[in-house]
Amino acid sequence: MGALKMRTELLNVGSLLAKEARGMEEQPLYRSTVFETEDTGDYDRANCGERYLYDRIEAPNRDCLGEAISRLEQGQDTAVFGAGMGAISAVFLALNRKGSHVVVNRAVYGETIELLNDILTTYGVDVSYVDFESLEAVEQAVTERTTLIYTEVLTNPLLRVVDLDAVTALARRRGVLTVVDSTFTTPMLIRPLEHGADLVIHSLTKYFGGHSDITGGSVTGSRELIKKVKRTQVLLGSCMAPDSAWLALRSLRTMELRVRRQMENAAAIAGALEGDPRVRYVNYPGLVSHPQHELADRLLDGGYGAMLSFRVEDDLEKVDEMIHRLKVIRYLGTLGGIRTSLAHPATAFRHEFSREELEAVGIYDGLVRISAGIEDAEDLIEDLREALGVFGE
Ligand SMILES: *Cc1c(COP(=O)(O)O)cnc(C)c1O
Repeated sequence: MGALKMRTELLNVGSLLAKEARGMEEQPLYRSTVFETEDTGDYDRANCGERYLYDRIEAPNRDCLGEAISRLEQGQDTAVFGAGMGAISAVFLALNRKGSHVVVNRAVYGETIELLNDILTTYGVDVSYVDFESLEAVEQAVTERTTLIYTEVLTNPLLRVVDLDAVTALARRRGVLTVVDSTFTTPMLIRPLEHGADLVIHSLTKYFGGHSDITGGSVTGSRELIKKVKRTQVLLGSCMAPDSAWLALRSLRTMELRVRRQMENAAAIAGALEGDPRVRYVNYPGLVSHPQHELADRLLDGGYGAMLSFRVEDDLEKVDEMIHRLKVIRYLGTLGGIRTSLAHPATAFRHEFSREELEAVGIYDGLVRISAGIEDAEDLIEDLREALGVFGE
């Protein structure tokens, strides 16, 4: 972070970037899809990014949000998308062509893998899925056709930590780009560009939005790379609507407060579950028992994230009964919101992967994922203890 602490930065960024908004405390919402042109020269000015023409290409609220994210990630420019998946698909499409090859952490977000398997590979892009805990495996997967290495910092749902410094060093040596989906970590925990990554992606639907009412995504990096990504985005039509951009900027101002509390709650839940006889193990990088706790300490600042998972008995009926018993925690297919939510990865992924494939990567029927919210930690722990009664008192 530059001279300001993140909390201050979050309040300042992007509020008055649009010229018309001078003197206002907050940014107006610009819903216009088109902007008047005065003369033929305006088209040239628009092409140089000096003027707005048409919403899908560039728009004020999206620009402000992008500028804010660039500041937080310490990047030159940001493209803002209608969804995290819009950001991810634009990056893969912008940086690859028929015959390219990408090296991907096999533990990344499920739909990123579906995008690669169901779309990219059918256009002739080859994918190698690698266990990023073995750097030799990553190195061996890189070929002459490799364009990029793609990973997350904390993986879903096992919360394994990726040694980003080692991965970017390897990528540089081999002349390929590193792309990081930092949705789980947020700029509060790590700024991947400062660790040598070339592009950092977020699903703004999660911690940036934080209130489960915005869908969005972003990609941040050098001006040159973002220009390529934006060109693809314009053609795919995956921009974020002005309303969402406005709301996302509003939400971003409280992200530090929310995420700080969410991380405290995650740590408290992880600590309580670790001592519970009905829980076989807890995956949380903040626990000393986490096999990569030291790596997490070295890589992340200010906390270990607000996601954790734990394993109970592999009995789906009992897992359902446990879910039904919960009164505070919700069973939701998302994460990063102010309310604590629970997900069941094995059933969420079952349409795409077999039980054997899932178990091979540690996703058992008894595995439960928690995204900590901002409630009182004691209420959350009590709620879980009560629900775990299904597995014995
Ligand atoms: C949710 C998520 C995405 C996809 O984002 P959407 O906004 O749902 O399109 C990508 N990566 C990670 C790690 C996510 O959690």
